[in-house]
Amino acid sequence: MASKSDIGSGTTRPVVTRFAPSPTGFLHIGNARTGLFSWLYARHFGGKALLRIEDTDKQRSTQEAIDVILDGLDWLGLEFDGEPVFQSQRADRHAEVAYKLLEAGRAYKCFSTPEELTEMREQQRANKQPLRYDGRWRDRDPSEAPEGTPFTVRIKTETTGEIVIEDAVQGRVAVKNEEIDDFILLRADGTPTYMLAVVVDDVDMGCTHIIRGDDHLNNAFRQLQVIRAMRGIEDGWEDPVYAHVPLIHGNDGAKLSKRHGALGVDAYRDELGILPETLFNYLLRLGWGHGDKEEFTREEAIALFDIRDVNKGPSRFDMKKLLNMNGHYIREADDARLAGIAAPMIGPDVDIDLLTKAMPVLKTRARDMIELATGAAFLFKQRPLEMSENAASLLNDEARKHLSQISARLRAVSDWTTEALEANLKTYAEELGLGLGKLAQPLRAALTGQTTSPGIFDVLALLGREESLARIDAQASG
Ligand code: GLU
Repeated sequence: MASKSDIGSGTTRPVVTRFAPSPTGFLHIGNARTGLFSWLYARHFGGKALLRIEDTDKQRSTQEAIDVILDGLDWLGLEFDGEPVFQSQRADRHAEVAYKLLEAGRAYKCFSTPEELTEMREQQRANKQPLRYDGRWRDRDPSEAPEGTPFTVRIKTETTGEIVIEDAVQGRVAVKNEEIDDFILLRADGTPTYMLAVVVDDVDMGCTHIIRGDDHLNNAFRQLQVIRAMRGIEDGWEDPVYAHVPLIHGNDGAKLSKRHGALGVDAYRDELGILPETLFNYLLRLGWGHGDKEEFTREEAIALFDIRDVNKGPSRFDMKKLLNMNGHYIREADDARLAGIAAPMIGPDVDIDLLTKAMPVLKTRARDMIELATGAAFLFKQRPLEMSENAASLLNDEARKHLSQISARLRAVSDWTTEALEANLKTYAEELGLGLGKLAQPLRAALTGQTTSPGIFDVLALLGREESLARIDAQASG
């Protein structure tokens, strides 16, 4: 299959990507998409797709928050290679790198107090200068600081020239080195900053490609400074290929908010009833495509995906399209599998065989699994059926009389199939000179307790003779 990816991965090393979510309590849809892209890219090149949990914020990074991410990825079918790396467990290595830079003169101790730095920024603000650390300890001798003064470790960044990234999505992006200040690598309490931790982990994990949200593009210029400073000190510090993927916007073009669908992957599954293959395909096509092709199997996605084909502009999230696509995937899905997904949504007393048998009828109309489960609930209701208000209002005296007639006629039907039942009731409606709807409506109310359901003859066939007649008789009057 010809694709742009035939031009290669942009590196001579075997491809290693990583997905590095922070456990914030949910796997945001936008993050899931970058996770998907990282995973696909590695699979395309037969490389490794690694997972790193950025759990340095101890307050938010609970086991529960981590499980939400792992569970979401698993549900989407993105299995990563090896065990996940936990960033919090690598603080010693992060500090080691900072000290190596310090020893090599590529970083320095900064003894500025927080008050001093605040004052510096206030002055910069007053003078309308950019707010940047001014390098006041860059060339000073540490012995000038009083014994025991706490210090941070700052990188000594390049001051002239520019730093260029040939981003696989954004194209060529350059920043003048003078715009990048000597940022902190180690805080005064000895803990690593995010900027240091990310880059040390990426290098130690052997990542060749950094695929992530374009909100991290600015960080890349800083992270490259660390990589290049370490290059002379340790082996393996090569520039990765960066691919900064644009964020997802709402369908009105505004930043994606909850209202637009900025939810966790678990909410798509549990609250919106989306199938994993729908979300996989939808996220894949959000900013990436292959001609007019609408649907991709996992294998096709792996074969065709290239990060370079991802659009530079933000993509728009369209909930309606997602739901339509979901309806399509529901109709394609295996009946027993759908029954397995729907059963817990319906309740405890679900006959899984009956639900599977009903699936061809149920799935033709549902756009999501919640709708499907709600539509299936009538099958498992206990008698006497609870009636919705609308259903109850259909069951007037006249309707109840019809029901008792129907009951008598149906008792005579020996072949309890959709076709035979349909033929029988049609004849009856004709005899009465009534439209079929006139009979079907109260019948539906009696059989399902609702005013909407699958076709009434399918309902009869699925419920079976005994249950159907019992439900009809419960509402009929003699
Ligand atoms: N943990 C970061 C986030 O969730 C990602 C960092 C990265 O990909 O470099 O936004």
